[in-house]
Amino acid sequence: MAIPYGRQSIDESDVQAVVEVLHGDWLTTGPKVTSFERAIAATAGTPDAAVVSNGTAALHCAYAALGVGPGDEVVVTPLTFVATAATATLLGASVVFADVEEDTGNLDPRAVAAAITERTKAVAAVDFAGHPAEIDELLDVTRAVGAALLEDAAHSIASTYRGMPVGGLADVTTFSFFPTKNLTSGEGGAVVSPDAGIVERARRYAHHGTVRDRTAMRYPAEGDWYYEVEQLALNYRLPDVLCALGESQLARIHAFKARRSDIFERYVDGLSDVDELRLPTRRAHTDPMWHLFPVRVPAERRRAVFERLRERGVNVQVNYVPVYWHPAYADLGYRRGQCPVAEQYYREEISLPMYADLSAADQDYVIETLRGALE
Ligand SMILES: *Cc1c(COP(=O)(O)O)cnc(C)c1O
Repeated sequence: MAIPYGRQSIDESDVQAVVEVLHGDWLTTGPKVTSFERAIAATAGTPDAAVVSNGTAALHCAYAALGVGPGDEVVVTPLTFVATAATATLLGASVVFADVEEDTGNLDPRAVAAAITERTKAVAAVDFAGHPAEIDELLDVTRAVGAALLEDAAHSIASTYRGMPVGGLADVTTFSFFPTKNLTSGEGGAVVSPDAGIVERARRYAHHGTVRDRTAMRYPAEGDWYYEVEQLALNYRLPDVLCALGESQLARIHAFKARRSDIFERYVDGLSDVDELRLPTRRAHTDPMWHLFPVRVPAERRRAVFERLRERGVNVQVNYVPVYWHPAYADLGYRRGQCPVAEQYYREEISLPMYADLSAADQDYVIETLRGALE
């Protein structure tokens, strides 16, 4: 049986939490939504959180809450899943890619400083593999021009940066609860921010843009049935059934983090003497929740090593194809070669299996197979 690169960790308490909701009155828009939101806000260290359908929806709502639209530029890392850029493009903004740092693969503040203009509305960094981006330096750059910093923390819920949890650091932060992520609700995501107003605008965007607070209405004189829509938006609700799973999982987040740290250390012990391999770095002011274990091999050997691992039942992954290499961005005129550090990172990268339930025996098999592939 193949070893996946990531997978969920479900226990009986998760099953019970979901069953309880199924027996109750609210499958969606009920009390589990609010309690999951409170639990996420507590983990992130923010006043509020808005849960949404998935991490992509979270990005879409976060950009919308920042007012990103036609005429704006958004500076984005290319070493990410396409959604970090696609959601800004779909809102009509023009995406500008800035290169990453060679060691962490995270957005390089110097590259952002070079890419930023007076039209820059937002800068989107990703905490690649769970390692926080250099948020303080990025904020220095964005604040100088009045742009907002968005942290795509799909990999990094429960990571810390300078002793602070990821979530309240940037102007707005998004999470994903896809099954391969650090915790799961099946599908799911959230928007958090130190600014409760941003979270409220994100929540409104996830609920058709509806305004139900009379004091915020343009036409408040209608009857009790009345609600209004001032900005067109979407339905990105996360149902109570899934909120119950997410909340149950979140209660074990620190145990998940400890397991991922142990797996990280075991990989380091088992692989650090292999000359042709580069292992992930951890900067001293961060404490990552490791979502991925990205290794780098010589670019000319990557394909063969990847195929050998897959043949032997180790379902490794490559993170990520540079976003502007996708035909959709090529068709918009983006050319290869613009972010050479990210492209080189991509050419060398392989993500090894990393998830809380990875057994020591399976991990040792991964180590042995990788060592064999590099001989
Ligand atoms: C997973 C992921 C997303 C999208 O999350 P979904 O829940 O799959 O929509 C966005 N950005 C990054 C960096 C991701 O890893």
